[in-house]
Parts: sequence; C-alpha cells; structure tokens
Amino acid sequence: MSNYLEKVLAEVNNKDSHEVEFKQAVAEVLSSLKPVIDRHDEFRRVSLLERLVEPERIITFRVPWVDDDGNIHVNRGYRIQFNGSIGPYKGGLRFHPSVNQSIMKFLAFEQTFKNALTGLPIGGGKGGSDFDPKGKSDNEIMRFCQSFMSELYRHIGHNLDVPAGDIGVGAREVGYLFGQYRKIKNTYEAGVLTGKGLSYGGSLARKEATGFGLIYFMREMLKANNMTLENKKVSISGSGNVAIYAAQKAIEYGAKVVAMSDSNGCIYDEMGIDLDEIKRIKEKERLRIKEYLVEYPNAIYMENTQGETPSVYTVPVDIVLPCATQNDINLETAKILVQNSVIAVGEGANMPTTNEAIQYLLENNVLLAPAKAANAGGVATSALEMSQNSMRYSWSFDEVNQKLDMIMTNIFNMCAATAQEYDLGTNYVAGANIAAFKKVSDAMMAQGVI
Ligand code: NDP
Repeated sequence: MSNYLEKVLAEVNNKDSHEVEFKQAVAEVLSSLKPVIDRHDEFRRVSLLERLVEPERIITFRVPWVDDDGNIHVNRGYRIQFNGSIGPYKGGLRFHPSVNQSIMKFLAFEQTFKNALTGLPIGGGKGGSDFDPKGKSDNEIMRFCQSFMSELYRHIGHNLDVPAGDIGVGAREVGYLFGQYRKIKNTYEAGVLTGKGLSYGGSLARKEATGFGLIYFMREMLKANNMTLENKKVSISGSGNVAIYAAQKAIEYGAKVVAMSDSNGCIYDEMGIDLDEIKRIKEKERLRIKEYLVEYPNAIYMENTQGETPSVYTVPVDIVLPCATQNDINLETAKILVQNSVIAVGEGANMPTTNEAIQYLLENNVLLAPAKAANAGGVATSALEMSQNSMRYSWSFDEVNQKLDMIMTNIFNMCAATAQEYDLGTNYVAGANIAAFKKVSDAMMAQGVI
C-alpha cells in the first residue's frame, strides 16, 4: 500500500478504533486503490481520502414507542449521510438489534461506491435502528415506524436524502414510514422513499431487483469466464428479499438451488428447493425456514451452532450466494468453499465476506462478484422508481427489468475493464473499487474542498 493510503487507514483505525465493521470496509476499499493513488498525486494534495472516509453528516435520534401492552420502549435511530457529491443521499434503512454506528457507517460508505457504479445520480447514505421487528405485532411495527419517521422526516427529501428498505424493512414498513411522512409534511412527495407499494408510487420489479440483478451480474461474470448458470448447483445464505429473488432468477437460468437458510439454520433439498413454499413461509407467514420440512419431509434441516460455519456453506455446490448479513464467510468458511470446489461466490448481502476470506478465495481462483457491484440492482431500480415518480408515470415490469439487466451488465463490464486496465486479471473486487473510486473522486475534485 502507498504511504498516503497507509496514513489514512491508520488515522481511521485510530479515530474510529471501536468501529470494527467500518474499519474493515475502509481497509477493503483502500487496499485496492494503490494503482490509482500512485498515478495521481493530486488526491493527496487535496486530502481527498481523508474527506472520503469521513461522513458528511451523522444523525442519531431517540425512537420511543408503546407496545401492545402499554409498555414504553426506547430505540436508537440513525441516518448517515455519507457522500452527496454525485446526487441526493440514497440508501436503505435497516431494523435489526445488531445495528450500531459502525454498521451504519460501513453500509453508508459501501453505498457511496455502489451508487457510483450504477451510473445514476445518487450519493451514498444509510440508516436504521436497533429495533428488533421479530415477534412484534403489525400495530407495534406501525407505531415504531411512525415514531421513527417523526424524527427522520426533517432530514430527508426527494432532492436531499431518499431512504429505502434493507434488513427488517420491506414494503410494509416503507408504507408506514411513507404514511407518517405524508401526514407530517402535508404534501405528496412520492420520491422521498423508494420500495413503495405499487398503489402509491412504487416501481414494478423493485422487489425483485436486488436478487435478479445479482444473477444478471453472475451471468455476465460466468460468461466472461466461458461458463453459464445452467445445471449449476447453488446454495443461498438467507431467505429474505434478496435471497428469494436471486433464487428465482437462478432457477430461471437453469440452475438448481439446493440450500437456503435463515439465522437459525439451513434447509438442504437435493431435488431443488420449492421456491413457492419458501415464499409462503417467509414472505407471507413470516415463519422459520425449518417449516419447509412440513411439506418436504425428505429435505434435511441443519441447525446453526454458535461459532461454527453456518451449515448453508458446508453443502457441496458450484455457486454460493451470501444474501443474509455481513461477515458470514470468514477464512475458515472460505477454506470449506475451496475444498468443495466452489467456482463462484456472488455477494447479495453487503460485506458478507471478511477481508481475509476475500483474499483466500481470490488466491484460489474462485470468481468473486463483489457486493458493491453485484447487489447494486436494488438501489439502481430505486433510482428508476424516483425517475418514474418525478415523471408521474409507471414503466411496465419488462421495461424496468430490461433497464436493470442493462445496468448490471454495464456494471460488470466496467469492473472487468478496470481490472484489465490495471492488470488485475479476474479480480473484480479491485475492479469495482477502482471504477467506483474514479467516479466519486472525479465529482469530489470538481466540487472543491467541502
Ligand atoms: P431481509 O430482512 O428480507 O432478509 C434477511 C435474511 O438474512 C433473512 O433470511 C434473515 O434471517 C437473514 N439474516 C439477517 N440477519 C442475520 C444474521 N445476523 N445472521 C444470519 N442471518 C441473518 O433482508 P434483505 O434480503 O433485504 O437483505 C439481505 C442482505 O442484502 C443485507 O446484507 C442487505 O444489506 C443486502 N442488500 C439488500 C438490498 C435490498 O434491496 N433489500 C439491496 C442491496 C443489499 P432471519 O429471518 O432469521 O432474520
């Protein structure tokens, strides 16, 4: 790493020493930028990297709410407006008990680069709360969302900051958030949130976009290496929004999805998982994935054990799609994947692979589709939702899906071309980081020291 990169990384490690995930995300990006930084001393002269790793704004706030029994709870809300040089801040909201400032910052930092890769005019942001939606009634979810928006509304707007969903925030939550925003502001500003329902300004194909986009990227990555998805065995970590629609598109391309999971464990069905049953269990009934055994008693359920490799990564497959949460694949898990001769990993989740695991997979010639490129389909389609809102017009499912496919194909081509330009072979991780950095740094350089 160059001296300048090392200095900035050391400053982050020192200033934000307790922010483990944020430090990891910064190290991952900076470690690939050496070839660009070496060629352009002007970045050092204007302290570009120091500004790039510092969020423009961090907002934290109190979220009090009342449960169905009248008890009062207090959660912490966040919105990180990380980098607005390319457009209004854009990024999802995550409701999960693990949420803290480090996780919010890493997600917002990653989002800045991801959004740049889409080629659309959106800056990077992220938000959420340590609220746990599991086991809450519909009314409790609604009251929580209303309280959350009662503070967040003053920090967002269709030209300022446009949140969307993430873990624990789907169409139901976006609906409650949008309702409260509309009530407080007394205006119909459809483009202030994306991931909305179709009856009030949502986009067709937004629900499917991240998962479909991941598979479009995977299709291109395999094609560039003379392979296809046909007849490949796939395991998917997670069974939420991203996982389900990645599975659907992979199956459409002739792959066989044999394993999916939730935070408790994994189901393995060597005949190929029945995705309609997963949708019933997860999307409609909001049950545990183990429920799959009721309809399919011949499938196998493997419970996760604390501290051990999640079972979804132990099954023999060709392609692995981590679509649950960060740091799911550590070095030990990466070794299991290599032992099982996995050919490709596609990151649907954000930062699902630790930096050591990324290194190991690349050294062992596993093709790696990096999250900030491969899961950009969701935010890209959110930006298409914003366009439709401002035109007051809706595109058909096929129109949105075609645009999504084109965007993902472009993103892959950009990552591959950048990797080639810097002699990085099939290291699409570095290709994505460098390509995204070039876009963000161009905009920041043009706008002066702010
Ligand atoms: P959902 O809430 O719909 O689903 C999350 C899935 O991951 C569930 O199956 C959940 O299991 C599992 N999971 C969550 N947390 C953990 C954990 N700590 N350990 C193990 N499993 C866990 O979220 P999404 O599908 O929307 O998001 C999944 C990932 O994709 C996240 O990393 C998100 O940031 C990323 N992403 C999402 C986008 C989107 O458009 N939704 C866009 C780009 C990235 P359980 O039900 O047991 O909690």
